[in-house]
Amino acid sequence: MTEGISASEQARADELDAHVRAGRALPLVFDAPRRGKPPRHWADLAPDERRPAVTAAGLPGFRASQFDEHYYRQASTDPLTWTDLPAGLRADVAATFFPPLLREVQVQTADEGTTVKTLWRLHDGNLVESVLMEYGVPDKPTSGTGRRRATLCISSQAGCGMACPFCATGQGGLQRNLSAAEIVEQVVAAGARVRLSNVVFMGMGEPMANYSAIMAAVRRMVDDIGLSARGITVSTVGLVPRIEKLATEGLPVTLAVSLHAPDDELRDSLVPINTRFKVGQVVEAAYRYFETTGRRVSIEYALIRDVNDQSWRADALADVLTGSGRGAGWVHVNPIPLNPTPGSKWTASRRRDELAFVRHLNARGIAATIRDTRGQEIDGACGQLAAQQR
Ligand code: SF4
Repeated sequence: MTEGISASEQARADELDAHVRAGRALPLVFDAPRRGKPPRHWADLAPDERRPAVTAAGLPGFRASQFDEHYYRQASTDPLTWTDLPAGLRADVAATFFPPLLREVQVQTADEGTTVKTLWRLHDGNLVESVLMEYGVPDKPTSGTGRRRATLCISSQAGCGMACPFCATGQGGLQRNLSAAEIVEQVVAAGARVRLSNVVFMGMGEPMANYSAIMAAVRRMVDDIGLSARGITVSTVGLVPRIEKLATEGLPVTLAVSLHAPDDELRDSLVPINTRFKVGQVVEAAYRYFETTGRRVSIEYALIRDVNDQSWRADALADVLTGSGRGAGWVHVNPIPLNPTPGSKWTASRRRDELAFVRHLNARGIAATIRDTRGQEIDGACGQLAAQQR
C-alpha cells in the first residue's frame, strides 16, 4: 500500500486502475469525497474573519494585519522567524494559524533552471504539483525573449474527476478538493522565489468543480497578494453553469476553455464532460463570458496526432467559434502539442500538422499561437509527476 493512503482509498485506486487496463471509460466525478479536510489556515480566512479569529485566540486584533504583512506581502510562511512577534507567541501562532499544508517532496528543474516543477505532499498523503515558468530571463536563452515575467501553474484538486482519457491525472481519478489555503500556499511558495506576474489554474484538477475554494483563493491573490485579476487564468473543460457564475463575480480573470475538439462526436470521447455540456453550449457560455467581462477567452486545444489535428478540424473549430454571429475577435486559440503520458496511445502531432492547424485558424481571422510546452524534459504533462509517485 502507498504511504499515507487508507485501505478504502487503495481499493478505489485499484478499481480505477482496473478500469483503465480494461480500456473502459472512467466515470465522471463531480462531488469530491468528503474526507481528509486540511486544518484551518490563515489563508482560509476572508479579510473580515481575521481580526475575530485573532481575538478569539486571545491576541490583540492588530496582529491580524501583521500576519497579513508577513504571509501575503512578504511571502514569509514561518511565524517562528517573525521577529516583530514576541518569541513566546510564535509557536502558538504557527500552530493555530499556519499549520503546514504542503510538504515539498520533489523539485525538478529544466530550461536552465527557469522551469521549476514542485511535487507537494498534502497533510493526508495526497500529492499535487505546481510549475513555475520564468520568461525573458537574461542569459537564459531557453526562457525566451521579451519582458521578464513569471507564470505559476497551480493545482486545484488532488486528482481530477473529469476522466479525460489522454491525461495522467484524469486516469488516477479524484482524491479530493483542495482547500483555499492549499491553493494559496502554492502561490505564496512561488512568490517567495520570484515576483509572479501570472497564475494559471492548469495543474491537477478541474478548477470549476472546486468553485468556492478557487474563488476564495483568487480573491486572496488579488486582494491580499496584489496580483492583477487579469493575470489570473481559470481553466475549465466546460462546466457551463460555473462559467456563467464566474461571469457574475465582478473579477476580470481570464477564462480558458479546454475544448480539444470542435465536434461533439470526437469530444464526447476525448473530454467526457461533453456528454453533459455540448460543444455549442460551452462555446456560447464562453462567448457570454466575453460579452459580460470584456475579457478575451482562451481556447486550449491539445493537438493529438491523427485524432484531432486535421486541417478540416481546424476549419470546423473556426466555424464553431465564429458561428451565430460571434465573429473572431472574442477568442484566442492555444493549440498545445500533447505531452504524452508514458504507455499512452495518444501522442503529439507532427510539426507540419500543428503549423497547418494554426494556418487554417488564422485564415479565418482567429488568433492562434502554439503554446510552448515548457518543462517537457521533466514530465511536463499535467499530473504526470504525481501519477508516477502515487
Ligand atoms: S485534462 Fe484536465 S480536466 Fe481532463 S482529466 Fe486531466 S486534469 Fe482533469
